[in-house]
Amino acid sequence: MNNIVLKLLPQQLNEIETYYLKHKVERNAPGVVFAAKLPDVAITVYSSGKVMFQGLGAQREASRFNEFALTDENNQQNINSIGDTLPENFSKLSVIGSDETGTGDYFGPITVAAVYVPNDKIELVTELGVKDSKQLNDQAIREIAPHLIATCVHSLLTLRNDKYNDLQSRGLTQGKMKAMLHNQALKHVLHKISPEKPDYILIDQFAERDTYYQYIQNEKEIIRENVLFSTKAEQQHIAVAAASIIARYAFLIEMDRLSDIVGFPLQKGASHLVDEMAAKILLQQGENVLRSIAKWHFANTKKAKRIFENFASR
Ligand code: MG
Repeated sequence: MNNIVLKLLPQQLNEIETYYLKHKVERNAPGVVFAAKLPDVAITVYSSGKVMFQGLGAQREASRFNEFALTDENNQQNINSIGDTLPENFSKLSVIGSDETGTGDYFGPITVAAVYVPNDKIELVTELGVKDSKQLNDQAIREIAPHLIATCVHSLLTLRNDKYNDLQSRGLTQGKMKAMLHNQALKHVLHKISPEKPDYILIDQFAERDTYYQYIQNEKEIIRENVLFSTKAEQQHIAVAAASIIARYAFLIEMDRLSDIVGFPLQKGASHLVDEMAAKILLQQGENVLRSIAKWHFANTKKAKRIFENFASR
């Protein structure tokens, strides 16, 4: 029996649930948060973030989500999945870093930023308070980001919900959208700093290198020179930490704009609170408004409709 286990990034369980919603089965085993059954493969999602694919079709189904895989326990490529080995003294080099935000949030855009921090600006950027953005709250992000934007050569791309939903309905995966945005942001920064070149480009890894380049194989200009991938790249170079802060700032600004449209602050993430908020928007403002501010294919849409229908039938 084929058996493949993927470890998913927490925010991406939503994608799996959405994808297999039609094949959902009830499984009350401990730690199981979602289960689905296809003719030749059973899919089980655990609260630990691990997803097991069992059966003849395991390879085929797991490969759909490989872009999200951090480790594949049956696969020797484990070492690869944490990314490239970085050169010594990497944190002291001149680097363009790139990162994205919003991929796991039902409401709001995907934002991608690329930032160039040359070696002689590392100290200045550090003094601005840049560190791993996961250690910074939204208030700190709002304070630091404008200084970074004014100080560093960067590119910032916001993929709003209407465009996102359009691309998604035409069959583009989130992985492909992200790869296209990263490539575009990196291209912009390289053009801005030309003829200067960074020592390296570091992408906060969301896909294996091969998958990433497959996604962008039809792009006119593909950035390949000195590109490295690493998970937790924010900790490897301040340029990625800076990119992460700018991307999160852009996400917050767009969430402010969308919150103004609906008339109350939108919830981040994809939790049950989000389902309830989405149901409220359906009820008060209708489906078109909800669609224009949300990632429509997420499981939250179906859950919100169910809440809405239960309410309406009472
Ligand atoms: Mg990232």
